[in-house]
Amino acid sequence: MLAAKAVEASSASAGSDGLIHGLTAQEVRLLTKESLDARSLAYCPYSKFHVGATLLTRDGNFISGANVENASYPVGTCAERVAMSSAIMKGYRMGSFKAVGVATNLEEPCSPCGMCRQFLREFCELSTPVFLHDKHGQYIVRTLGELLPMSFGPEHLAA
Ligand SMILES: [Zn+2]
Repeated sequence: MLAAKAVEASSASAGSDGLIHGLTAQEVRLLTKESLDARSLAYCPYSKFHVGATLLTRDGNFISGANVENASYPVGTCAERVAMSSAIMKGYRMGSFKAVGVATNLEEPCSPCGMCRQFLREFCELSTPVFLHDKHGQYIVRTLGELLPMSFGPEHLAA
């Protein structure tokens, strides 16, 4: 979990290009809404920790996931991997994603676990912005490369 406060709130001003981390204001609004909405579909009877994740694709689709727990605890999976797996099943691949959104019910923005960072890294560029929302929809943004420095990826296995 990040200690940083959600200082870069939803009211974050756009850059000189009129975009917010490469997204239009409308895309950011929708990414936030979809990420927060996805939380409500979490199956988390054990942890009661609701997480929603949404991927914004370059062709303008929003694909969401929520955490899915299991009575055999390690079998459960995170919202980010549910969302990405759903996107993969729709045919999206590396180069398809414009941004990632994550939302929890915590007072502070919460970042993806280590396993999910690696999972996202397989399909997202290191420059992909990850919007980390608190329970109220305020967010901070970190790139995937910031969340997973010196990472290992598919290019390292390329012959
Ligand atoms: Zn995770």
